Amino acid sequence: MIIFVGMRKALFILFAVMTIVVACKPKQTEEQGPQLQYYTTEKTYDIVSVTSPAPDAEVRNVIFLIGDGMGLEQVSCAWVLNHGKLNLDNMPYTGLSRTYSTSDLITDSAAGGTALAVGEKTANSHVGCNPANEPLYSMLDKAQKLGKKTGVVVTCHMADATPCDFCCHDDDRYHYDAIIADYTECGVDFIAGGGRDYFGSKRQDGRDIVEEMKAKGYNYAATEEELMAAQLPVLALLADDNLPVAAERGDLYRNMTARCLDLLNEASGDKGFVVMLEGSSIDDWLHANDIEKAMEELLDFDRTLGDVLQWAAADGHTLVVVTADHATGALTLQDGDLEKGEIGVAFGNDSHNGIAVPVYAWGPGAQLFTGIKENAEWGSLIASFIH
Ligand SMILES: [Zn+2]
Repeated sequence: MIIFVGMRKALFILFAVMTIVVACKPKQTEEQGPQLQYYTTEKTYDIVSVTSPAPDAEVRNVIFLIGDGMGLEQVSCAWVLNHGKLNLDNMPYTGLSRTYSTSDLITDSAAGGTALAVGEKTANSHVGCNPANEPLYSMLDKAQKLGKKTGVVVTCHMADATPCDFCCHDDDRYHYDAIIADYTECGVDFIAGGGRDYFGSKRQDGRDIVEEMKAKGYNYAATEEELMAAQLPVLALLADDNLPVAAERGDLYRNMTARCLDLLNEASGDKGFVVMLEGSSIDDWLHANDIEKAMEELLDFDRTLGDVLQWAAADGHTLVVVTADHATGALTLQDGDLEKGEIGVAFGNDSHNGIAVPVYAWGPGAQLFTGIKENAEWGSLIASFIH
């Protein structure tokens, strides 16, 4: 009997201990928090120092930069990595952009970029058209009608959503054959990015779009060297798919941008030009939850912005605007060290987020770029400077 009572007591204690262990477990997980990824970069850089022209100076050129997936959290991480400075810091006027589409609270790059490009919201998966699949024309089309030169420079393949938002028209962003064929009609003077395969070998219809564009007068460049020697109009496809990652492509994106600005400026005279420059691959690596590659893309984008601001300061008649189509990865900066340039981050998902994204402006007219607006309103505001 004594032994039996002892066993019952022992069993009760065992049960009580197990209950406590089980009860404590969630609390332990909570205390540990999500797994953080830590990163520091080797490639820190000095930011440029530029003086903005008078706010009422005439705007001849517009340079519009889109960091795909570049929300304020991504910018904050890059700022820490570069020890508390970014070329974005040079941009004195800032606002916020609401990114939802007509179909979804959470936009994709097709609808998010189209709203910026054409000044009208559309549905997810739609590039350069409204939800009824009627074509909408972008700020580049407006510029062409006014006799200005136009350009698109991206790090992705040319069938990806953002360049298509400015140049093509389709209710399905994955209709790659049809979308790429639209470049033959878009009239953009300087087109540079990746995606040779989408112009030829990957096509179901057997068309060779590079040959078709050559027949229309485009000078084709397949390498950086060829691009640096090519004259307008230029079609530069510098990779079969996306361009190499930032760590592997050196200054390619900056050089493409510099060539674009020089050629368009030379050819446009007093009429001016409009360019869309995209840091396309920031988004891809946020989808992959790869903080290292995403941040190197963002830092390359910011370095390129430094070149753009120096160019624009020397010119004196250029409005520069930077924003994102949406944020990606539900990124949070949770730890790190500003002096060491170290970040500790967590990703909350592998897709897009509905949070408002920052808008930055510099140059004549930039003082109007403040407050909270719809993405389409920001697009219209930029287009209002194309006259
Ligand atoms: Zn994306």
